[in-house]
Amino acid sequence: MHYTCPSCGAINRIPAERTHQPGQCGRCKQALFDGTPVDLGDADFERFIAKNDLPVLVDFWASWCGPCQAMAPVFSSMCQQLQHQLRFAKVNTEHTPATSQRFAIRSIPTLILFHQGREVDRLAGALPAPQLQQWIQQALNKIGQ
Ligand SMILES: [Zn+2]
Repeated sequence: MHYTCPSCGAINRIPAERTHQPGQCGRCKQALFDGTPVDLGDADFERFIAKNDLPVLVDFWASWCGPCQAMAPVFSSMCQQLQHQLRFAKVNTEHTPATSQRFAIRSIPTLILFHQGREVDRLAGALPAPQLQQWIQQALNKIGQ
């Protein structure tokens, strides 16, 4: 299974049965599962979405957005709980005009679940943790995970 390093972006191959164990990057030796969302920009977005075999959940946000601030800790705690099932990434829409336009982000926060480079589902607006987890599960069901 392909898994990009959250620190240096190197593509690591890890056996699927080992995604529930701690591992380190073959290039930079940092932890592969560090429990924090990865910050993506226009330059590395496409590669991250396409080169991970786990589904990727992206939070499109902005610093001036109140609901985004409120959802940030919820998103982080989801990441800690579910990091072995899917990748969590954040895109600051103020710094990523190309990516935000490409995915027609009109309201924030918007969450999009990607699998193998394709959009599977999206959610506009913040949700409390239990509802967010429910939405994630239902989105994962769509791709049979
Ligand atoms: Zn690395």
